[in-house]
Amino acid sequence: MSARTLELDSVSFRYRGGQLALSDLTLSLRTGIVGLLGPNGAGKSTLMRILATLSKPSSGTVRWNGDDVVAKPDALRRTLGYLPQDFGVYPALTAREFLAYLAAVKSVPSARIAARVAQCLDQVGLAEAADRRLGDFSGGMRQRVGIAQALLNDPALLIVDEPTVGLDPEERMRFRHLISDLAADRLVILSTHIVSDVEASATSLAVMAKGRLLYAGDPEVLMAQAAGRVWEWTVPSGRVPELRRTLVTSGSTRLADGVRLRVIADAKPSDDASASPPGLEDAYLWLLHRDGGQ
Ligand code: ADP
Repeated sequence: MSARTLELDSVSFRYRGGQLALSDLTLSLRTGIVGLLGPNGAGKSTLMRILATLSKPSSGTVRWNGDDVVAKPDALRRTLGYLPQDFGVYPALTAREFLAYLAAVKSVPSARIAARVAQCLDQVGLAEAADRRLGDFSGGMRQRVGIAQALLNDPALLIVDEPTVGLDPEERMRFRHLISDLAADRLVILSTHIVSDVEASATSLAVMAKGRLLYAGDPEVLMAQAAGRVWEWTVPSGRVPELRRTLVTSGSTRLADGVRLRVIADAKPSDDASASPPGLEDAYLWLLHRDGGQ
């Protein structure tokens, strides 16, 4: 297996006339699924566009297998698959026609296009639907076409930006399985603001907020850091609105005698609250709100 290493060193990015959208990011990514987590506005799409060589950092460097991607973008582009957030399809074309067109745009040799398109459609579970018009596809099927186009050049680096937005729960689950299946021998970077999108599959995590990197590493290590800060507390339902305003909560369950809240706090919120082991969602919220969210 060849190396797949993406290294960011002090990467910053400022939109013209805007604030810093990325602030001094240093990060090293290797083969596997990297979950890039952060709330809206964190800078995820900005970072993805830089990694996909569509924009250049204002300062700092990005290296793919050691090569600077600004000086030598072609080495990365040849082996990049990218599913942008605003991926659109031509509704009048069939999935097969659309992918054949994109394969030609991506310089797949014409003699190989038909076989490669069939292979990619099969990989995303759309072989049966290959000759249906894209206008008749569900949101989840369209996203799978998006992945199929990103796979046309058998990329070593696959970047997918908020791929589950607008999908229903079943499509979302199916999409997560698909991404897991694709990770062997690739570096997959998946951005999302939804923890459960990456919970089962990410081999490493990068958490961002307001353009800064808050955490990079194993999900387990992040969960261990939040240990002792997650509480379960059953309260009368009338108190829930007030408590939600003043506390960080990661979940609630309605019970016969009230509501059980999951509370993220450094200290026990009440004598009758009990400690609970952190899940990834708890740890993520703890990280976002640590030090008052600064
Ligand atoms: P995310 O993908 O995490 O939601 P973005 O990368 O889209 O975050 O945005 C990061 C920050 O950059 C936000 O403050 C956003 O308002 C700003 N931003 C994004 N795109 C532009 C743009 N084209 N021009 C100016 N500011 C932008």
